[in-house]
Amino acid sequence: MWTCPQCRKTFVRDNQSHSCNDKTLSDYLQGKSELTISLYDHFIRELSALGDIQVRPTKSAIALSVDVRLGHIHRLGKNFVDVVFYFDKPYEDNLCFYKIANVPGSTQNNHYFRMMNEEDINEEVLKYMKMAVKAATRK
Ligand SMILES: [Zn+2]
Repeated sequence: MWTCPQCRKTFVRDNQSHSCNDKTLSDYLQGKSELTISLYDHFIRELSALGDIQVRPTKSAIALSVDVRLGHIHRLGKNFVDVVFYFDKPYEDNLCFYKIANVPGSTQNNHYFRMMNEEDINEEVLKYMKMAVKAATRK
């Protein structure tokens, strides 16, 4: 077992390369309500059914990717989970995103989705989830 002198995280291998600022999944889930954690689990399960999803906690968010990033968990609230999907253009004609924001200087458009119960992943949301997974898959 090796402990990084900077961040005090422990690793199996000596000098394991990592980013000291990265948080762990438990850092994110700690102290969250049972509802929020079950919503998070449900979302990851639904997303994972669509492709080979990588879930990677970073210093600012829980990143979601296949071969490239498709979005991130924006916020784990008291009784909701906010997810952001990245698309190369804004899909304004929808009922499921409460905000769409272009990332300045890029073609990335962040689409914000708030999940308050499992049924929020409806047909429309699933359609966008599939699109995001497809766009992030390089083969
Ligand atoms: Zn470190």
